[in-house]
Amino acid sequence: MEQKEDKLKEVISHAKEYGFVFPSSEIYDGLAATYDYGQLGSELKNNIKSYWWKSMVQMHENIVGIDSAIFMHPTTWKASGHVDAFNDPLIDNKDSKKRYRADVLLEEHMEKMRLKIEKEVEKGVKRFGDDFDEHQFRATNPNVLRNAEKIKEIEDRMRTSLEANDLEGVYQLIMDCEIVCPVSGSRNWTEVRQFNLMFSTEIGSVSGDAATIYLRPETAQGIFVNFLNVQKSGRMKIPFGIAQIGKAFRNEIVARQFIFRMREFEQMEMQFFCRPGEEMKWYEYWKETRSKWHKALGLGDNQYRFHDHIKLAHYANAACDIEFNFPMGFKELEGIHSRTDFDLKQHELFSGKKLQYFDPELNQNYVPFVVETSVGLDRMFLAVLSASHKNEVLEDGSERTVLSIPPALAPYKAAVMPLTKKDGLPEKAREIIDGLKFDFLCQYDEKDSIGKRYRRQDAIGTPFSVTVDHETLENNTVTIRDRDTMEQVRVNIADLHRLIDDKVNMRTLLV
Ligand code: ATP
Repeated sequence: MEQKEDKLKEVISHAKEYGFVFPSSEIYDGLAATYDYGQLGSELKNNIKSYWWKSMVQMHENIVGIDSAIFMHPTTWKASGHVDAFNDPLIDNKDSKKRYRADVLLEEHMEKMRLKIEKEVEKGVKRFGDDFDEHQFRATNPNVLRNAEKIKEIEDRMRTSLEANDLEGVYQLIMDCEIVCPVSGSRNWTEVRQFNLMFSTEIGSVSGDAATIYLRPETAQGIFVNFLNVQKSGRMKIPFGIAQIGKAFRNEIVARQFIFRMREFEQMEMQFFCRPGEEMKWYEYWKETRSKWHKALGLGDNQYRFHDHIKLAHYANAACDIEFNFPMGFKELEGIHSRTDFDLKQHELFSGKKLQYFDPELNQNYVPFVVETSVGLDRMFLAVLSASHKNEVLEDGSERTVLSIPPALAPYKAAVMPLTKKDGLPEKAREIIDGLKFDFLCQYDEKDSIGKRYRRQDAIGTPFSVTVDHETLENNTVTIRDRDTMEQVRVNIADLHRLIDDKVNMRTLLV
């Protein structure tokens, strides 16, 4: 556990040192749970956005993208259920004065029990070696069974209490599980209360006619209210999707995990409109498609897992998370929800406008069903950054820190370095950059020894370093060094573009 916390700390300080992520308004000691992306961070973030947008919009004939406003008519949030039900159950520890989400405390408690089961299985592997039958062991080992049963019981009680809004029941469950505050170690808890996560502000300059409006807590509603606009103007036929990337705001109760849980963050959401009754087919399709999208990054297939929701949101008939193995453990990266016709029907009800589709094949009007995929851009950023961050000991005993960011997402694609600052080498290096810069973001670097410059590029994840030396002036060849293998080969300048493109083009991820 401690090791994992250290890993997160290391990633945070690396992100700051190299210009990926800074605490927001740091000169005033920062603002809790808000962060600014620096010069390299915004490049990485843009590349992640582009990977998502291309895979959704460019690779699907029947998906289009929009960019709706953050402010929306306040009735939107009445209709969507956010005003009444976008709450988290919170609980305070009276000794440490720390605030927690009650459901998260319980989830973490269950996660510890799941780890106990895995330890038991590991012991079994050691004890029985090749003869070990994992399936049978899980089905019969008394310790495993006891823990699995306990987890099931906690899950059931938690779901029942949360669905019935029985906050006393949630409190009792926390007491029964003997959950202690990680900071004070005590069980001196307050009651559980509901807390609405929406930020509100006022629109209109004269206080008399000002109206309360909300900062959107999700981008999805901007898609729903534009369903007919897009369908009609784009002549879209069901099934079709509308995608959007944009800011969302939530007044999170607990915000302690860097960019994992922020109060201002960015979502990449897609609502897929389909025929009623076909939503489970599309739900499965999107689970699979989204899983492939993540795994194509090469961060390790075993770093992902699906987690089915035990408490379904008020709008969903099926929901799961794609979880990623963050430095803090497996946590939600993306949500895939079958939202039924809830949102469109609610907007029909509150707006008095019909939000229906005429299906020429069925010769019938209906309110489409919706499958949503919703991934946090900042969580994607943290997934890429933390999985790429490695401290390596090299053959010669020296060490390096490398960010093995998937090349298509890396901020700089190539660094071009003159061996010395004279003899025309800088000019030659700049000439090379001029040939590459239309397609690749390149960095010119002439300071310090080549070894130091390589380390610097490793630390910011640049896939290629190109060195210009005296031989370059004679025969137009350069050395190109691969970030991951650290191999250097001599190539013709004329071949550089192709060599770089082969590795960094987004195509490598999308096919
Ligand atoms: P959690 O259970 O972690 O609070 P959620 O289930 O409320 O998340 P959704 O409403 O499904 O999240 O939002 C979709 C996606 O938006 C999440 O999978 C996550 O990647 C991202 N997201 C949600 N809240 C935050 C946040 N506070 N900071 C950063 N990203 C977030």
